[in-house]
Order: sequence, then structure tokens, then C-alpha cells
Amino acid sequence: MKFIGAHVSASGGVENAPLNAAAINANAFALFTKNQRRWEAKPLPAKSIEQFIARCDEAGIDRAQVLPHDSYLINLGHPDPEALAKSRAAFLDEMQRCEQLGLRLLNFHPGSHLRQIDASASLAIVAESINRVLDQTEGVTAVIENTAGQGSNLGHRFEHLAEIIDGVEDKSRIGVCLDTCHTFAAGYDLRTEAACEATFGEFERVVGFQYLRGMHLNDSKSELGSRVDRHHSLGRGHIGLEVFRFIMNDARFDQIPMVLETIDESIWADEIALLRRLDGVSACDLADSVIELPGAA
Ligand SMILES: [Zn+2]
Ligand SMILES: [Zn+2]
Repeated sequence: MKFIGAHVSASGGVENAPLNAAAINANAFALFTKNQRRWEAKPLPAKSIEQFIARCDEAGIDRAQVLPHDSYLINLGHPDPEALAKSRAAFLDEMQRCEQLGLRLLNFHPGSHLRQIDASASLAIVAESINRVLDQTEGVTAVIENTAGQGSNLGHRFEHLAEIIDGVEDKSRIGVCLDTCHTFAAGYDLRTEAACEATFGEFERVVGFQYLRGMHLNDSKSELGSRVDRHHSLGRGHIGLEVFRFIMNDARFDQIPMVLETIDESIWADEIALLRRLDGVSACDLADSVIELPGAA
């Protein structure tokens, strides 16, 4: 079974996120459990936690299919010890918020070496950061997202993800989220069935699908290998619809949250419906048919 949703707003409190997910017929979703642009956050009120859980149940959304995203400020591979300590403390707080909400996953970007140390040294710091936080928490898996590789960001090569996993002691609580836009911008082609076979085959060889815990489904405004992270609505960017058809018809993507982070939230319900329609469609059928894309041209 496929679980599809979007990164919905939690404005007004985390308890509003499941309502926003239900409104677009999602059976999975992502959210921020705190303001993603601030370091400090108030603890989650007991009432919010209770309502969040009740509303997931009412919407029929299994909390195992919720993929919260951490703050953009956190850099678990920071070369500076003081800044690193701040990031590690913030990440621990994020993991604890997930524990409180009964969530199983926390999605994060691996970090950045800031051109002060080499990539491998920074990746080792990321792994050590994860080890420390896993030691202090229970039941939540740290889910590394692959990146477009902008600036000095780590995680644009599948080898980076593998290197982090290699350094993590508890392999049962480390996973990966693949973002289709980031994958493409990092230089892995996804535009045809053969390209998808090759790219996901490489992911299987280098990382392994047993670590795949989530997907971000985005088309890309930027070109193949551009290393620029610019999302687009499905079918409107440089990737096109084939990769989404491919994913919808491949059992390796079953039973994990797959989340839209596309740019026009007014068409998320239509994009989710489009993805569900692609289930059972072959590559030839897709190429031969005229698919009406959601949203304005
Ligand atoms: Zn993403
Ligand atoms: Zn992105």
C-alpha cells in the first residue's frame, strides 16, 4: 500500500496538522513540530499532544506514516564544537518532541562542512551526533534526507548517506528519505523508466532499500546536476511525471510516508489524486496519454 501526503502547516499548534492532512485526502503527512527558523521552542502542551493523537486516529492516519522535519538551523556535521553542541541539543529536543507525539521518524538534512573540514570528517561528526541522540531517546528513527548539494551541504551523493549509516551504531534506528528533486538536482537522472531503474538500482547498491523510510515527491525547477534546490509542482518541472508513475508502481516504495513539498499547496489534493491515478499505469501508457496536470499552466 502507498501512503501519500504533503508537508502540511502546523500553524496554531501541531494538533492542526492532521486536520490539514485529512482535508487533502492524505494518508501520510510531514510537519514541523516547532518553528523551523528558531532555536528555542516551548515544550509541547499536553493538550496539543492529546489532540494530535486523537485527530490522527480520527483521520485514519497511522502515526507511523508521519514524517516530521527538523529545523533548518541544525547542522549535525558542524566543524565548530560550540555550534555543534547547540545543533546536537536542538536535535535531541526535536527527537523528544517526536517521542512525545508517538511518532517513529524524524527527517533531517545531514549538515554542512562549511568548507572548514573535508566531507568525510564532517560525515563522521554527523554519525557521532546521531549516535549520541539515539542513546538518549527511544523508538524514533533518525531519517537522513539526500540533498541537492547546494554550497557545502553534505548528502547529495548516495555514498554520503552510506558513510553516515556506516558510522551509526544502532542500524535499526537509522534510515533515509529520498527527495526526487534533490536526487535529480544532485545529478541522478529520473526522467525515463530506464533512468529510474539505473538511479534506484544505484541507491540499492550503495545504500540499500532496507534503509528507505520516506520519500519527498517533488518535481524540479532546476536542471539535472545543477546542485540547485528548487521544487516544482508534479509534471511541471524538468523531471516530469514518469518518476512518480514509476514510484507508484514499485513495491519498494510501499509502507513508507511519501510527502509532497511542491510549491502550490492549493493543488496538493489534486496532486495526491494524480499520484493515486498513476498506480497501475505503465510507462508506455503514460507516454501515450495526455495527462491533465493540476493547477494553472
Ligand atoms: Zn525534501
Ligand atoms: Zn528541497
